[in-house]
Amino acid sequence: MNTEQIKDRLEDMRKDLEERQTRIAKHTRHREEPLSADFAEQATELENGETLVALDREIQDEIKRIEQALKRLEDGNYGSCVSCGGDIAEKRLEAIPHAGQCIDCASKE
Ligand SMILES: [Zn+2]
Repeated sequence: MNTEQIKDRLEDMRKDLEERQTRIAKHTRHREEPLSADFAEQATELENGETLVALDREIQDEIKRIEQALKRLEDGNYGSCVSCGGDIAEKRLEAIPHAGQCIDCASKE
């Protein structure tokens, strides 16, 4: 397992997510400007705002998982399932480098 390569990939992923978060934050701030007079339009804007908040939360969770994976990499626990301690399949890690659980444990939850 090439830990340097994994670390790079995780850091790239985190950077992308942080950029998305910045864009969302900008968009959300923009919404605090006076709303348009058209009521229907306001409703749409509100809906979009809620979607953005949910999206922002998802991104936050994803960043957290990536940071935990980076920590495990540093500690030398990377690739071990946090629930059962077994090995996480390499294919799974290739697809989801920040996976903390083996496929068995992940599907149980
Ligand atoms: Zn497991």
